[in-house]
Amino acid sequence: MSQKIITRFPPSPTGPMHIGNVRTALFNYLYAKQNSGDFIVRVEDTDKARSKKEHEEGMLESLEWLGLKRNGELWHQSERTEIYKKYLQKLIDLGKAYISTETEGDPTSPRLRGTWNREVIRFKNPNKQVTFEDLVRGTVGFDTRELGDFIIAKNLEEPLYHLAVVVDDFESGVTHVIRGEDHISNTPRQILLQEAIGAPRPVYAHLPLILASDRSKLSKRKHGESVSLGYYREKGYLPQAILNYMALLGWNPGTDQEIFTLDELIKVFNISKIHKGGAIFDEKKLEWMNKQHINLLSPEEKQKIIAREFDVTSVPVIDKTKVCWKDVSQSETLKHLERAVEIIKNNGDLMAYAIEMGKASPSQSRGRGNVLWPLRYALTGLEKSPDPFTLIAILGVEESIKRVEKVIELLK
Ligand code: GLU
Repeated sequence: MSQKIITRFPPSPTGPMHIGNVRTALFNYLYAKQNSGDFIVRVEDTDKARSKKEHEEGMLESLEWLGLKRNGELWHQSERTEIYKKYLQKLIDLGKAYISTETEGDPTSPRLRGTWNREVIRFKNPNKQVTFEDLVRGTVGFDTRELGDFIIAKNLEEPLYHLAVVVDDFESGVTHVIRGEDHISNTPRQILLQEAIGAPRPVYAHLPLILASDRSKLSKRKHGESVSLGYYREKGYLPQAILNYMALLGWNPGTDQEIFTLDELIKVFNISKIHKGGAIFDEKKLEWMNKQHINLLSPEEKQKIIAREFDVTSVPVIDKTKVCWKDVSQSETLKHLERAVEIIKNNGDLMAYAIEMGKASPSQSRGRGNVLWPLRYALTGLEKSPDPFTLIAILGVEESIKRVEKVIELLK
């Protein structure tokens, strides 16, 4: 009997869902589904100071929006303290881990004044060569001697990442660990811990880094908002386009086909065809893909997305007093709308313009709303409506321009 495949997506809820999370979740989902397996989701919230409920909710909502449905219950590491404790105690009893007294502080620092003692739990490293077969990187070898007796818990109640991950993967029967390459150096520690608790070794696949167009590693610090899924949602990208694009970051089907639905991806995805080299994230390509996916929608589907909540197809009734954002003047709003029409006509980057104008405005009315609000309002006449990017995609360029031009006349 062949073993049931179980993959996992274990985000730490310390920030908004970023595009690296999306790709990890997607690859785990695809691999599980194409093997009639399970895709489980676990919230890695042992770091109490940095974990936030709002981020957890954001991540779960993102998975739902993307259509990546998990199997079974949602795991929370914060609810499993007793279980980790048992494993820690067992490791200590077996002499495979020990409580160590550490001296901290710096006797020479005038500010910290002196040193103090603290107890932690360290793993007794068997100091050996660990070799594993990675589905992406091939045979990977590590000499674990350089890791020393690494810390696995602050105390019996506070396990650290490596221990919690190994225990959870074992207890949930995870067979495949598919995650970013930034985790590859964690794998030898986790393998040593698996061996110590008697857990089988899962199959590993470490995905190539996602790079910006200048080939630097995509990071929040350097690339700001554009690393988060929310940024693309706000711009009106469809979930199917985002998934399609992310699937091709680090993998290709080996054919010319570029547009895939999620169901098609489940069929054609091949984990052994993932590349080793970094994958460049190119928003232009995503934008192109989004257009292809919008074209795939039937006119009814296009409208349905929006009409679910908003009536955007009937001709808007405009209240002139509502067009301007906060205290932005009518003449400035007029200028923004005129420029927006030009950008829409030329298929330019509206978001970039909105961000630029948002920064240039006086403090009270800062923000992208400067441009995006009047545009959204002009397109629908509604105070609550989807973002203008979605609206333009749904209404079409011609109808959108017609609506905005009408408001321009009104403001003149
Ligand atoms: N919680 C980790 C993260 O969000 C993932 C751990 C893992 O995949 O083993 O980066």
